[in-house]
Amino acid sequence: MKIVMKFGGTSVGTGQNIRHVADLVTKYANDDCKVVVVISALAGVTNKLVEVAEQAKKSDEKHIDEFIKELLQKHQAAIETAITSTTLQTEVSQITEKTIAELEKVLTGICYVGELTPKSKDYVLSFGERLSTPIVWGAIEDHNVETQWFTGKEAGIVTDSNFGEADPLMNYTSHLIQERLGPLLEKGVIPVVTGYIAANQDGVVTTVGRGGSDYTATILGVALQADEVWIWTDVDGIMTTDPKIVPAARMLPQLSYQEAAEMAIFGAKAMHPRALEPVSKENIPVRIRSIFKPENPGTLITKEPDAKVKEAVKAVAMIPDVAMLYVSGAGMVGAPGSYAKVFDVLGKNNINVMMISAAASEGNISMVIRRAILGRAISTLEIALLDRSGLVSEVSAEDDVAVIAVMGANMKGTLGVASKIFATVAKKGINIRMIAQGSSELNISFVVKEKDGAAVVKAIHDEFSLDKI
Ligand code: ADP
Ligand code: ASP
Ligand code: MG
Repeated sequence: MKIVMKFGGTSVGTGQNIRHVADLVTKYANDDCKVVVVISALAGVTNKLVEVAEQAKKSDEKHIDEFIKELLQKHQAAIETAITSTTLQTEVSQITEKTIAELEKVLTGICYVGELTPKSKDYVLSFGERLSTPIVWGAIEDHNVETQWFTGKEAGIVTDSNFGEADPLMNYTSHLIQERLGPLLEKGVIPVVTGYIAANQDGVVTTVGRGGSDYTATILGVALQADEVWIWTDVDGIMTTDPKIVPAARMLPQLSYQEAAEMAIFGAKAMHPRALEPVSKENIPVRIRSIFKPENPGTLITKEPDAKVKEAVKAVAMIPDVAMLYVSGAGMVGAPGSYAKVFDVLGKNNINVMMISAAASEGNISMVIRRAILGRAISTLEIALLDRSGLVSEVSAEDDVAVIAVMGANMKGTLGVASKIFATVAKKGINIRMIAQGSSELNISFVVKEKDGAAVVKAIHDEFSLDKI
């Protein structure tokens, strides 16, 4: 068997967990598996890098010193617990110190210019994986197996230049990966690759989107024609809802690529939304499984949905940190191309719209976008559209909302699902702010106040008995 195994930040959060990961990897490698390992940043590190990059942009040098010290301590502690050989410890410590010194220079540079471009932000964010991966490599090497570590760029992942959400140039990437990792695998060497980061054709560092180590794993899986891609994480698999909201959430043993992708897009964090694209084309199965229960098979994602499951609703998810944006104006009524103007302005300014609903009166459009870009979206629309033409007369927003998405392949053609969902929300006395249903009919999504989000998820999970099916 040839398997690409990805370990997320939650799996490599501490030195002890890293040791456990190295034990798992070597167990499979000794069982005659050809294993490729993909590693995320230690839990929380990428978020911290985002924060410190923003502080650097504001020329806040004080925080950089503190951050660098903490980062070094965190990784040194992990090295000491994860690796027993002192020679290896020293080797990995030296890599860590050198990498952190480079990061410090980059952050200081951002401080001086006071500018953080998508390109420089990707460079900063790449350090999480550049620091975690050598430690995991050291812990595997500690088991006396042959292993070698690579950055995504060194492994051969070449992307477009869409910094922050880059996509691989798959043909070229496959060729390079086969050339660089293929022969090692044949010799029984375990390649350990940084997740999330790659490079464009000019060799400039890119990232494939937050949570993107899953994507790195499926890219490698396709390039190397793996038998399966395994995403190891801290929960049993893909669940009927986030177990942190509903502890009774149940693991879903099987999902189709389309169902799992839909769940990922609508907030089930266990999977990166674009990660299933490359594997679904090649029909390579993906498994989501728990590092704490390696004996469990986890969730298997393949082409077909589980034929045994007849229920319409399979899962419910909440997307926090979003905002609703309203654009209204009598000038939009009966004016062909008016919606196009609104979306053109947003598109050209790189503002992604997650959900849309427009009234039949044509006088207003509601949209859901990420909360972090709300300010920019409002000002962009105001500048571009609030002119004397009268097309748009008001741009307003609500920033304390969440999207709830209810999903399942059998919702297609099942009557009464929507009415049952909305009756459940109404019974709780909670107001629905907006509704949308994609043409795939795989999900119904709606917007509620964020403070009500968890209660709505629980109520729907209960109403459809998702913990029991
Ligand atoms: P990793 O670090 O392994 O990539 P993530 O934090 O990205 O882990 O994803 C795993 C987390 O996703 C879980 O701890 C869980 O709280 C959350 N989650 C949200 N919705 C779901 C779901 N439907 N199924 C499984 N996990 C979910
Ligand atoms: N470290 C990256 C992130 O936090 C990628 C990942 O964890 O998959 O987004
Ligand atoms: Mg993840």
